[in-house]
Amino acid sequence: MNLKALSSMGRIIRTMRIEAGKRNPPVNKIEKITKSDPFRSLVFTILSARTKDANTMLAAGKLLAEAPDPRALARMRIKKIEKLVRSSGFYRMKAKNLKAMAQMLLGDFDGNVPASMEKLLLLPGVGRKTANILLAYSFGKDAIPVDTHVHRISNRLGIVKTKTPEKTEKALMAIVPRRFWKPLNHAFVSYGQTVCLPRGPKCRECRLNRICWRIGVKRSGI
Ligand code: SF4
Repeated sequence: MNLKALSSMGRIIRTMRIEAGKRNPPVNKIEKITKSDPFRSLVFTILSARTKDANTMLAAGKLLAEAPDPRALARMRIKKIEKLVRSSGFYRMKAKNLKAMAQMLLGDFDGNVPASMEKLLLLPGVGRKTANILLAYSFGKDAIPVDTHVHRISNRLGIVKTKTPEKTEKALMAIVPRRFWKPLNHAFVSYGQTVCLPRGPKCRECRLNRICWRIGVKRSGI
């Protein structure tokens, strides 16, 4: 394990946020749509599965303009939801999950998004990543949402050696001090969108290249 990187976690997070901030990462625009509201964040995160942020933002913007709360979404016809979220991909499945999710919020949770992992996982379309995003960003709880960026960069740095995001989440929770859990996701996602790209990471301009083990990186970009 790359102990040097692990012991520099505070510096790594700070550097990532500064460097990504200079490059205008898509993740910084998400708050304009979600407004840190749990329902809006939930809709956004369900729509974000297996698609690019730009597609998610388009779909979420259209849907939330017409269905800003669980009641409006639960009442909306499936065909209309499908039309509004089409750009996000897998739109039929997502539309079905979104409507069922809104109905469950109304029927089981008084129209509110629940603030526990156990209850969030009951909602259609919600897995651990979505639940952790809600817990960390909407409810201010200690959680490490692990998406493809967090999984990839943690492995490249050499602080974990894992095959799936689920295993990365467990590994990070075991070794990363709790005070870094919440800021870790935003820092790694924004850096993954701008510097440590999935293909062709920009290792030569990366301010972390002295401590990064670059595990699995065969060819870096610029
Ligand atoms: S050195 Fe390369 S692989 Fe490591 S964090 Fe930087 S961009 Fe990513």
